Amino acid sequence: MKIQKVIKCRIVHLTKVKRELLTQEYENLQKFLQGDNSVKLYSANKQQAKRYYKRVKPTKEYPLSIRKDLIKVKRKNTKIAKYWARIPVAGRRGGVWVAIKLHQDMPNDVEICESKLFRKNGEFYLHLTIQKEIDFVKVEPLDYILYATPSFTINERTVVIANDIGEANPIVSVELWGFGKQRKNVRFLGREVRAIRQHYNWLKKSVGRKKIKHALKWIKEHVKHKESRKVADVLHKATRSIVDRSVELRQQGFEPIIVFGNLKGVRRPRIKGKTRCRKNNRKVHTMPSYKIKHMLLYKALWAEIPVAIVNEAWTSKQCWRCHSTNTVVRKRMFKCRDCRLEYNRDLNGSVNIGNRLLGYMLGNRADVNQPQTPPEYSIPFSDSVCEGRSHRL
Ligand SMILES: [Zn+2]
Repeated sequence: MKIQKVIKCRIVHLTKVKRELLTQEYENLQKFLQGDNSVKLYSANKQQAKRYYKRVKPTKEYPLSIRKDLIKVKRKNTKIAKYWARIPVAGRRGGVWVAIKLHQDMPNDVEICESKLFRKNGEFYLHLTIQKEIDFVKVEPLDYILYATPSFTINERTVVIANDIGEANPIVSVELWGFGKQRKNVRFLGREVRAIRQHYNWLKKSVGRKKIKHALKWIKEHVKHKESRKVADVLHKATRSIVDRSVELRQQGFEPIIVFGNLKGVRRPRIKGKTRCRKNNRKVHTMPSYKIKHMLLYKALWAEIPVAIVNEAWTSKQCWRCHSTNTVVRKRMFKCRDCRLEYNRDLNGSVNIGNRLLGYMLGNRADVNQPQTPPEYSIPFSDSVCEGRSHRL
């Protein structure tokens, strides 16, 4: 299968002439999108714009989309920059070569795909989409989705890195060794997210209270982006560390597989007569869980680490040790009434998720004793199960 990712880079050390050419191309694109057909725009860029931007808002600036055969990136190792990119513009044959600064080295065996040129605060940025071929396939048996090499099997060297993705603890990760007999290396990742979100919610409220002129606009410009950037940064680091750990395990000769849960087509049901309070609503709809799953999947696949997604229904309710569902889940605590297990609630969930995959893949469900997936309306919802909208990865 093919896997893509975006490398963001800043265009640096622009000469006056090149800056003018880029600015002209970029501004002409905006004019063209607003309906001015007479502007000078590189023909392929014009076609791209026609293809991509069907509906245009008058106040927004749109990036210049560059066709994959027209963008070129070269490693030149010059004094001012390691890498250079060629951007096609009207008025100069062969486009302009600009120095770019990447946040990471460009891998060797990749193909460059459609890329985008942005302008922000007078600076130009290039988002390069790169693609590579990995020998993974996506298989979808009834109960789970697996991305792995066709020959992938569970054996004694397999380390299942199970992750429960939730709200209070964005990621709870645990390693299951030896067919799930041993649990090691429990990690609580991304906890800073909560503090960041609380801080910004407080900020938004206080701005609202003071009735600052154009408060809403101010919030939109200053708070929203900063908040999501900070949250994204924390999540990037957290997901990166899981993938790094997997790579480390692989180097030691083990076979790691990353697994997380997902609710298939399950939407939080509305219960008659029970209104959700605003505070909870806000939390539900801005949950970072979708982002986490997406990041984890793509980062892992890029590093060629197998990934599995299992249905996470009941994983927070069931006891991982005795599989009983006669349990108490209160705040962050989990208690089993049958075997007296007391555990961190999210950790219990992630052990269950890992065990569920092992059960599916080893084909001995009796071992894992998974209850049948209940019909949609009866799925219990604790806050680790709420997602704003149903989605499938
Ligand atoms: Zn139990």
